[in-house]
Amino acid sequence: RTIPAVFKETVAAFGGRDAAVFREQGVRWTWAELDRQVDALAAGLLDLGLEKGDRIGIWAPNRYEWLLTQFATARIGLVMVNINPAYRLSELEYALNKVGCKALITAAQFKSSDYLGMVRTLAPELDGAAPGQLQAKKLPHLKTVIRMGAETSPGMFNFDEVVARGRNTPQADLEPMTAALDPDDPINIQFTSGTTGAPKGATLTHINILNNGRFVTRAMNFTENDRLCIPVPLYHCFGMVMGTLGCVTKGAAMIFPAEAFEPESTLRAVSEEKCTALYGVPTMFVAELQHPDLKSFDLSQLRTGIMAGAPCPTEVMKRCVSEMNLSEVTIAYGMTETSPVSFQSAVDDPLERRVSTVGRIQPHVECKVIDENGETVAPGVQGELCTRGYSVMKGYWDEPERTAEAIDADGWMHTGDLATIDAEGYCNITGRVKDMLIRGGENVYPREIEEYLYRHPEISDVQVFGVPDAKYGEEICAWVVKKPGSDLDEQAVKDFCQGQIAHYKIPRHVRFRDELPMTVTGKPQKFRMREAMVAELG
Ligand code: ATP
Ligand code: MG
Repeated sequence: RTIPAVFKETVAAFGGRDAAVFREQGVRWTWAELDRQVDALAAGLLDLGLEKGDRIGIWAPNRYEWLLTQFATARIGLVMVNINPAYRLSELEYALNKVGCKALITAAQFKSSDYLGMVRTLAPELDGAAPGQLQAKKLPHLKTVIRMGAETSPGMFNFDEVVARGRNTPQADLEPMTAALDPDDPINIQFTSGTTGAPKGATLTHINILNNGRFVTRAMNFTENDRLCIPVPLYHCFGMVMGTLGCVTKGAAMIFPAEAFEPESTLRAVSEEKCTALYGVPTMFVAELQHPDLKSFDLSQLRTGIMAGAPCPTEVMKRCVSEMNLSEVTIAYGMTETSPVSFQSAVDDPLERRVSTVGRIQPHVECKVIDENGETVAPGVQGELCTRGYSVMKGYWDEPERTAEAIDADGWMHTGDLATIDAEGYCNITGRVKDMLIRGGENVYPREIEEYLYRHPEISDVQVFGVPDAKYGEEICAWVVKKPGSDLDEQAVKDFCQGQIAHYKIPRHVRFRDELPMTVTGKPQKFRMREAMVAELG
């Protein structure tokens, strides 16, 4: 089925219950109220002349306008294009032109960044244009800009006005649009995080993302009584698929603590909104665990949640169980190109497995681990992980070559991640193919060293990566974030490894940092750490 079909079923079943809470904006909607807003926006967008298949960008943090846009565009078959709130001029221009966005919905500003100013810089023609009639030299496809916030801007529509415009449209005008949707239509383009290089635009269908949301929350036994705290960004699949679509398929409430992640507002939201579930990338959970007043928040309703997006250290998982009451916490593994989740531990998996593996393959998805020759390896042997099934994207938008590199002729998605799968099907992600380094002829997997260093009581975060080395080909570096009050030094870190891990795996260079370079989705950007070390070491 399609996203709007399932959305309407949830509205019919749970109309009077909480659907969405945006705490920073003071917005609270039941399913019935959310449905009215979504339909009004959908009608408003139709009224502006947008049609099925048109690409419409959204560039904003976690605000109510984002959620409405997601479900309104799905209702009438527009292709929503998620644009990372951290993007700046050149990236915004690239994304809008890459997929030919006809419309853009933008926040006015975010974290002291002037979004409207950036849009105007790219399209100075807005000043003299009638709204919806833009002709901009740098953005040839873009006709319509819709801004958020109460004020108006030359050449742009105002978001709330577009909603108001659609409010009196009869349902009968929307129904045929929804009825014409095919579950296999592209509905969403998401750019990958850019952890290893330039982001790629993954094209996803109703089948891809709706089902992924459904299976993800099913693995946690979600019902309409669950209340999910979503501090992860909506522009990323963690927020909009595992979060919003996951909740829609079960009628669970979505609680957005703030426009952007911050540990205190997240903990407060969990406590005041009586959340039963919490999402986050590892660094978010680390920040919450480190909060000096963690014990003062009421986490008694918390039960389950997902840590995902980057390697999830077992120690951090265990602390989530014991210090945050997350007795049924799970780990998920996935990538934008697979909608995103393909492995997830289930609440009834044994605890030890649940905190140390990414669980087992999702229903209706196949997996295999292959060696350099493309042969499937035996259980427990490391190789590149491949997946195949309903969740694999249509392709990268307008990039047939990169698509063919990622998805082979038999439909297998080559993930670029290293993994082992044991005889019972539990999977361990052991690193990225690109991160593996070879020191003096020995293969070194940074992930393994990170797991060991996390056990040090004074280390709160650590990333391990390779830098070129004249003698060994590559040498191992560790960037470490110390816990408050620690006076750990380089030698102490090396001593901690001595005799505990093989000598060739002991980091040669250890540096201490207050924070590590991350994408907004909390992925460690090792290429940036590597660049900095190369500059330092000369
Ligand atoms: P790019 O492809 O642009 O370099 P990216 O791969 O980081 O960026 P995403 O699609 O957001 O972009 O992230 C998917 C990747 O995140 C996976 O390929 C994997 O490396 C990593 N990842 C996700 N979940 C986990 C997990 N539970 N454990 C380890 N790694 C994970
Ligand atoms: Mg990737």
